[in-house]
Amino acid sequence: MKKVVIIGASDVGISTALRIRELDDSIRPLVIANNDFPNYSICGIPFFIGGEVENWQDLAHREKEDIENAGIDLMLNTDVTKIDSENKKISFIDENWEEKQIEYEKLVLGTGGKTIVPPIEGLNSPGVFFMRWIDDALNFNKFLEKNNPQKAVVVGGGYVGLEMTEALIRRGLDVTLIEFEDTVLNTVNKSFRKIIQSKLEEKGARIITGTAVKKLESDNNKVYVSGTNDFEIEVDTVLVSVGTKANTELGEKAGVQTGKTGAFKVNEKMETNLKDIYAGGDCAETLNAVSGKYAYYALGSVAHKHGRIIGSNICGQDKEFAGSLGTQALKIFDTVVSRTGCDQKKAKENGIDTISADLDTLDHKVYYSPAYEMKIRVIAEKQSRRIIGAQILGNINAEVSKRLDIFATAIHNEMTIEEFNDLDLSYTPPLSSPWDPVQMAVQKFDE
Ligand SMILES: Cc1cc2nc3c(=O)[nH]c(=O)nc-3n(C[C@H](O)[C@H](O)[C@H](O)COP(=O)(O)OP(=O)(O)OC[C@H]3O[C@@H](n4cnc5c(N)ncnc54)[C@H](O)[C@@H]3O)c2cc1C
Repeated sequence: MKKVVIIGASDVGISTALRIRELDDSIRPLVIANNDFPNYSICGIPFFIGGEVENWQDLAHREKEDIENAGIDLMLNTDVTKIDSENKKISFIDENWEEKQIEYEKLVLGTGGKTIVPPIEGLNSPGVFFMRWIDDALNFNKFLEKNNPQKAVVVGGGYVGLEMTEALIRRGLDVTLIEFEDTVLNTVNKSFRKIIQSKLEEKGARIITGTAVKKLESDNNKVYVSGTNDFEIEVDTVLVSVGTKANTELGEKAGVQTGKTGAFKVNEKMETNLKDIYAGGDCAETLNAVSGKYAYYALGSVAHKHGRIIGSNICGQDKEFAGSLGTQALKIFDTVVSRTGCDQKKAKENGIDTISADLDTLDHKVYYSPAYEMKIRVIAEKQSRRIIGAQILGNINAEVSKRLDIFATAIHNEMTIEEFNDLDLSYTPPLSSPWDPVQMAVQKFDE
């Protein structure tokens, strides 16, 4: 029996293990994690904090027993401390604090991401929280229940900061979001960012951009927050969410190479430079399907795909990761914003000349009320007219993210504007128009 050891029991680790079991039931993979929450949906944390998901246990994609019943061994609360790639061994400290070693034939690094710690004084102060793991969510939730805070600061205006702002508003807090850059959500175009910002402001959030938090001081159950531009505020709690970076320390010590992004360098088969060691998910780089360059996408959707490729290859298949487009959707109250592929700025950086088209429309026939407003931007390569990017914003009922996925499919298959317009998409008045809005958007290129 092949000895497969997987470090990490989150998206990439469990996907790898499940794929192995699908293909070869003679292998019983061992999955090791340094926490007690295998296969939980970290992506669901903001919805648990906001109360849209009542029980944190429901965030489990699978229960421990389901994983074990699928033929996967779990070793939890176990910290892998060393990889000896020459002798194909790993060392770990198990949940009883015993130091042990185990041999592997194939090793998978699914060590994931870790929170970026910004240069802010007083991050360890009481009342200050980060949000990366299920324990973080449980600790923060306990604090919210026990202390009943009224005012919060969220540091960071990326998608997690925005989701957490909504969550805290839903919990009845008065929230101030502070972003260092001059805008929130810099992954989408300016007009979409403004709409997302105003959706939060309409619900009571105060959003301050172009300001860096510098110092946090706790006293008497209050946190004093100060920053650039003479910014000062006194709140009851602070949530810091400024992004994720690859957790590569363990692998790097063993000689696993990292790329320009700081994450593990892998080939299309998700192999690292060390024999029989694979890496995927938030600890590894991802091929960008448009630019052909490696990028860093800390996304659960990407991690699951990496895992499936790794599992297939461990079982002797010859699968290659086809690349990612950074396809992503974000829901803020009743509005969804989504993006895929390149925007004009990224295209320019990659030497691609672009044309773009914008459409404001309704998601379906207006006589079937209510129809919802929707904004679409499409980006194509100027010369070839190949679609390379799209962004859509609209109401949660307007199937925004699935419409964006039509663009993701087209970009993946290198379709041109004309080929996209030829697609046979479905129509019924409550859901669309004879020409779906996504096709009306690409027709704008010819006006
Ligand atoms: C609040 C939040 C919301 C998100 N929302 C979305 C979303 O809507 N859509 C989306 O696509 N993505 C989302 N993400 C990103 C997504 O959660 C990650 O991309 C995904 O969890 C990555 O999975 P992973 O398996 O690579 O690693 P991780 O989830 O980072 O897990 C790493 C694993 O490695 C283990 N580990 C690490 N080091 C060791 C060691 N030395 N010894 C033993 N075990 C170790 C850990 O215990 C853990 O099991 C969100 C992230 C956050 C924080």
